[in-house]
Amino acid sequence: MCDKCSENLLHPIEPSRRSAILLAASALGLAVTGAVSAKEAKAPPKPQNVLSPDAALKRLMEGNARYVDGVARRHDFKHEREALAGGQNPYAAILSCADSRIAPEYAFDSGRGDLFVCRVAGNFAGDETIASMEYAVAVLNTPLIFVLGHDSCGAVDATLKAFKDDKPPGHIPSLVDAIAPAAKVAMQQGGDVLDKAIRQNVIDNVAKLKSAAPILNAAVEQNKLRVVGGIYRLASGKVELIG
Ligand SMILES: [Zn+2]
Repeated sequence: MCDKCSENLLHPIEPSRRSAILLAASALGLAVTGAVSAKEAKAPPKPQNVLSPDAALKRLMEGNARYVDGVARRHDFKHEREALAGGQNPYAAILSCADSRIAPEYAFDSGRGDLFVCRVAGNFAGDETIASMEYAVAVLNTPLIFVLGHDSCGAVDATLKAFKDDKPPGHIPSLVDAIAPAAKVAMQQGGDVLDKAIRQNVIDNVAKLKSAAPILNAAVEQNKLRVVGGIYRLASGKVELIG
């Protein structure tokens, strides 16, 4: 142990000094956030990404159509790296499953700095994801959130199986608990339960993000943000909009 560490253990920081340090750190954090926000708002590195929510959705779906047709654009990563070194202004935020077959940047034929992507198996919005989306919307001015489910989703399938079988191992129950409400609705409906649960899970998470107070719901009310959902079809690559 170094002299400084042992000194701190022997003489811990006094409560009043600790409060002052925390206060200063907090103020510094706000100042840095403010500076980043002002800089990104001042000069968006991708002016073509400054879009209305409707225009952002149109661009996203046009990108998917190119991907489906096999006519994706060539992305100049070298040029984009330089342009994006000082900031970002993605035109859409995507909440996607972690499935290796779903790659939002490919599926929507988008370059770097275009999509703010959060991924988790089962594409559900936990607190950390909502916080990430709040950053995208409030700081980066992203006008669109897209919840992207997909057919044959293993996380949704595991949730349906968990109702019949034993509790899944490890940390998987945390995924199952998040997807369970959608799975229950689908089980009550009958038919192709997996497909219905996947769809319901997207619908539920669109609703959750839309109503997430105080940032996302306010942006939706002010028409600065749209939250929509869709299903990625594995065989065709086509994203089908829901609702
Ligand atoms: Zn999945």
